[in-house]
Amino acid sequence: MTVRITFHGAARCVTGSKYLLEADGATVLIDCGLFQGLKPLRLLNWEPTPFRAGSVDAVVLTHAHLDHVGYLPRIVKQGFNRSIYCTPATSQLAEIILLDSAKCQEYDAAFANKKGFSKHDLALPLYDGRDVERTVRLFRERPRGEWFAPAEPIWMRFADAGHLLGSNHIEVEIRNRPRPLRLVFSGDIGRYDGPLYHDPAPPPACDFMICESTYGDRDHPERSLLDALADVISRAVDRGGVMLMAAFAVGRSQQLMYLLQILKSENRIADLPVYIDSPMACNATRVYRDFSEDHDLAESDLDAAHPALGGRNVHLVRETAESKALNRLKGPAIIISSSGMMTGGRIVHHLRQRLPDPRNTVILGGYMAEGTRGRLLQNGAETLRMFGADVPVRAAIETVPGLSGHADRSGLLRWLGNLPQPPVRTFLTHGEPESSDALAEHLRNAWQWDVVCPELGQSFALEIP
Ligand SMILES: [Zn+2]
Repeated sequence: MTVRITFHGAARCVTGSKYLLEADGATVLIDCGLFQGLKPLRLLNWEPTPFRAGSVDAVVLTHAHLDHVGYLPRIVKQGFNRSIYCTPATSQLAEIILLDSAKCQEYDAAFANKKGFSKHDLALPLYDGRDVERTVRLFRERPRGEWFAPAEPIWMRFADAGHLLGSNHIEVEIRNRPRPLRLVFSGDIGRYDGPLYHDPAPPPACDFMICESTYGDRDHPERSLLDALADVISRAVDRGGVMLMAAFAVGRSQQLMYLLQILKSENRIADLPVYIDSPMACNATRVYRDFSEDHDLAESDLDAAHPALGGRNVHLVRETAESKALNRLKGPAIIISSSGMMTGGRIVHHLRQRLPDPRNTVILGGYMAEGTRGRLLQNGAETLRMFGADVPVRAAIETVPGLSGHADRSGLLRWLGNLPQPPVRTFLTHGEPESSDALAEHLRNAWQWDVVCPELGQSFALEIP
């Protein structure tokens, strides 16, 4: 009858989500994410998998972000060949994200071999495109709101987390006793009143809560995202050049598109041409359009000329030749491209082209990690090293704060505050130690909750008194 949970990722960090749930011989993995960020974390992806991949009965995904799905092809390579449950939108977005990840893995391995970086004779990718193909064949789609049993006696049900298209929290019942043992996995919790997504559905009553804590110690800026974006764009239009926005291809690019369409519909900015220059963002935009019933467009009355994810002045740029042709583009116009932190991808070519001209504007949004070009620009770098040359930074650098898909501290407390009674125990995951600890302290002191911030690899027996 013992139920056990083991935290194999997103423990004292924000990536590598992997929670192993065991009950009566059934083993279900909740999320299977890649570790990302600084090197010691990335190296964890290369450690032996901490559980036997072939002994897992099923994987269930909260959403399609790489830090929640990016390790799947690795366990498939190691012998996992059972079902992977997720919502229909998650299955489509995860395929796009995993194919891109395989390409990056293969590119890095080829680069290491060329430069002779590898300690081994031949650097190998963590997985390749064929592993991804085998992985996506295991996807089994389940709609929100319906119970399913990934492995008896473990039953689960998805509910909207409002964080990304198709994202969920997962309600779990372990039905091997007169009253089921109830767990909730929060996944990543979205923002209340965030653009494009519905508010996160309230969590149901549970005995054990596994909750993210990315922003457990801070709130997002009060100022409206639309006002901030409108100001930045009007200054950029005055400069007369091209606006360059770096954005993650899946999720952020579509949110920006939607925000721009609101500003145009409300005549707060001119009807500028917008170019989405990323094949991955083009593919993701198709998925977003296909699942339009999943969107929350309540913030604004979009006019007919400016639908949420399209319209006559929104151009999806897929081919390389079209992307190169954007070099001749005169402003004012907006180019949205990736990667989000400017570490690679088409955005780098645009930076080389646009940075030297003071009429242009580079718009930074969201978090820029240490060591990325995005962070260097944020810190006021005068030149950027690209393609073996130092490119002068004469373009204006602007920041739109508050572009985050995560609930902030107040949002997390609002979400948890929906619970009819405190869980027996709450595990805080998916946060840097200072964020998780701050939220834990608050829940213990102000709410008298039993809270644990598990360490990587830590395991707990779950029993109710
Ligand atoms: Zn996420």
